[in-house]
Amino acid sequence: MATSARIARSPAHQRAVKLIRRADDGVPLREVLKLTGIGWTDGPRADCPVCGEIRALIVHDEDNWAWCHSCGRGYGPVSLYAAYQHGDDIPRGARLTAARELAGRYGITPGPGKDRPPPEPDRHVLSAALIAWCERTFPDWRRQQYDPVVAGKLARCLGLLPLVHTEQDCRDWLTAARTAMGRVLGTEAA
Ligand SMILES: [Zn+2]
Repeated sequence: MATSARIARSPAHQRAVKLIRRADDGVPLREVLKLTGIGWTDGPRADCPVCGEIRALIVHDEDNWAWCHSCGRGYGPVSLYAAYQHGDDIPRGARLTAARELAGRYGITPGPGKDRPPPEPDRHVLSAALIAWCERTFPDWRRQQYDPVVAGKLARCLGLLPLVHTEQDCRDWLTAARTAMGRVLGTEAA
């Protein structure tokens, strides 16, 4: 499947993936929000530094990532910073540049150490793939996504992403998440 996360192959790509992961793990998303000049407005809700929508960004501290209802996208620290700098179309290599900057700022070293083995899938790609599928499959998604039942189901699907590690996990998660979303969106539409 074109949208499932690819396993890094070249050594340079692997180093880039590793640095991005270290920055995503080591830099609190709240710190990135501060860097972009966004303060807290209401508990987990913040203004989105990417699209500028007020209180649209829901920060999940336990997973160190955030979901913007207006962008329709999830962000880790690196992707949030890169999107803040570049907008929706993040140029090739910009995530690595953002990771380097964050790593430098927060004293995260790219050297060897307590590395987890194989590269983790890009869970933000997976969440974006699920949203894109919902948009394609359900013409009324723009409205339906705000239905509490639909939003709750989506949050539960995305909440399972930390359990996704292998390529097979990616496929299984996407299949199960589509089924779950299809069920709830079909019900809501009826
Ligand atoms: Zn946004």
